[in-house]
Amino acid sequence: MVEGPVMNGFADNGGAGALLRLMRDGRPRTRSELAALTGLARSTITQRVEALLGANFVLPVGEATSTGGRPPTQFAFNPAARVTLSADIGATHARMAATDLAGEVLAEHRDDLDVALGPVPVLEWVVATSHELLAKVGRTLTDLLGVGIGLPGPVEHSSGRPVNPPIMPGWDNFDVQAYLTEHLGVVALVDNDVNIMALGEHFTQWPTAAHMMFVKVATGIGSGLISHGRLHRGAQGAAGDMGHLQLPHGADIVCRCGNTGCLEAVASGAAIAARLTEQGLPARSSQDVVALARGGSVEALHLVRQAGRDIGEVLAAAVSLFNPSIIVIGGSLAQAGEHLIAGVREVVYRRSLPLATQDLRIVQSRTGDRAGIIGAAVMVIDHALAPMQVDTHIFASPPPRVS
Ligand SMILES: [Zn+2]
Repeated sequence: MVEGPVMNGFADNGGAGALLRLMRDGRPRTRSELAALTGLARSTITQRVEALLGANFVLPVGEATSTGGRPPTQFAFNPAARVTLSADIGATHARMAATDLAGEVLAEHRDDLDVALGPVPVLEWVVATSHELLAKVGRTLTDLLGVGIGLPGPVEHSSGRPVNPPIMPGWDNFDVQAYLTEHLGVVALVDNDVNIMALGEHFTQWPTAAHMMFVKVATGIGSGLISHGRLHRGAQGAAGDMGHLQLPHGADIVCRCGNTGCLEAVASGAAIAARLTEQGLPARSSQDVVALARGGSVEALHLVRQAGRDIGEVLAAAVSLFNPSIIVIGGSLAQAGEHLIAGVREVVYRRSLPLATQDLRIVQSRTGDRAGIIGAAVMVIDHALAPMQVDTHIFASPPPRVS
């Protein structure tokens, strides 16, 4: 059985890592099927399957039906080969999970935790919770593929260091990767909270969407961009930071960043809470705004809808620049119901050109508050199981290359 054309990248230098990437879809296949799919010789496939079996990354899974003789064995990716640990650190609470290599959450833990305590107390919590979660799922540090962490501020992804994070005193330029690698002995990857949410939402809900935009509307506003199926971080990791784009009609409102008229200063959960409080409806957080909106407060519903329109103004520009096929609205304020999305749709569809919006969908996040931990796990799995990483770190001797 042949599954379409022979895959690129196998002919000369695709090692066991490239074969593993192909098998991560979980489908059981025989050696012949793998040979047909990759264009590699049967002997090469046998060798690489042996290597993957040896590392426990694939398992024999029963036998394929055969027309005669001994039925050939099928092999499939083994998601239980290793585990990952992922952390989603918010402003005032934190969540961690242990997942398998398919991104399935095996155990989870959530605590109130103030990110403003500084890096060492927060990362001590991450390390302690890591050990608890590993014990809970019956695994040890030797089973750990890596650890991924999302932080509520700008992060330079290549170095894993936060850069002038506004709500994270003491974290500026702290080497989060080095700290976690030192204490857990594995690769650690760091990104901002919105990027990992975008990854989690894309992986679980829209895996075939090549161009997706995830917008988090909570205390602040930010977005993560998926381009050609991968996270687009930009030159410094700052891509998608839309909260500080200026709204034409917001000019007199001062933002925490020091500028005036930022989207976040006008349309975030914090901004709406402040407006409601001025109107005599005490609200301190996005959650309070959601509670008022769900309780039917006309003032809250009106402000949430207007926030949706304001966000839509900025998104209309983003749609023209980036042309996504789907925009997912998440974050705590998205739980206020349809009003936020209705406001976004109203403006985006009116302000963008027809070619960009003819197939554009604007939907609510389905992953909710788990998007971050799943996305942080996916970030680790995609990195550590990339063919090059697998061949150089897991199978110390890469296959000979044709020169
Ligand atoms: Zn600002």
